[in-house]
Amino acid sequence: MALNVIMMGPPGAGKGTQAGRFARERGLLKISTGDILREGINAQLPVALKAKELMDRGELVDDATMIAIVRERLMRPDAQPGFVLDGFPRTVAQAEALDRIVAERNNGPLLIVDVRVPQRELVRRLAGRLICKKCGTNAEPAKEGAPAAAACAKCGGRLVQRADDNAQVVKERLKVYERATKPLVEFYRGRPTFRIVNGAQAQERVAHELDTVIDDAAVVGATPQGTPAPVKAVASGKAAQA
Ligand SMILES: [Zn+2]
Repeated sequence: MALNVIMMGPPGAGKGTQAGRFARERGLLKISTGDILREGINAQLPVALKAKELMDRGELVDDATMIAIVRERLMRPDAQPGFVLDGFPRTVAQAEALDRIVAERNNGPLLIVDVRVPQRELVRRLAGRLICKKCGTNAEPAKEGAPAAAACAKCGGRLVQRADDNAQVVKERLKVYERATKPLVEFYRGRPTFRIVNGAQAQERVAHELDTVIDDAAVVGATPQGTPAPVKAVASGKAAQA
């Protein structure tokens, strides 16, 4: 049975890091849409080139094109043990298409993990983010209460605050994320394979919680859906004629 995972979560929740770790540890393909777009453009895939054309014109890549790119990647043999999707789906139309792709793969259910972090903590993490003035590398975020690094770990360059990362900009970005994601959360929330993880813990704890809920959701998801519970019919005293 494949592990087919979607990771959701706001910027600053650390879901990219966790997605990478989980995929590595379980031998799954980690798929971010940015990566497969670049990969597809390098390989001259027609759908990816179409997306590039749109982006070059400053337009957004439409759902149909994005879905075609993701589908192409997920149907390849190296994706068959499972995948961890980061940054897709972003719309309900994409989510519906992903359901169809997963049904077509026919090797396991879709498991959805939503990494949640309170806004206050996200603002602290994002607004404090430093970047090397010389080489552009992101500095490791300081642990709570610890002093921030003074110089770039890679080149020793001076660290400065990222221009787009002041608290007001961060709050606006989070609001945009929230608005855009709400319909998606609604779409998935009622499923037995939907799980919430507390992303406001130390990384190792987040990792542990994530591993636990994904394994649990995989077991639940493997149970056939819609099987009527015969216990109920017996308890109500009615003979089960079906
Ligand atoms: Zn540097």
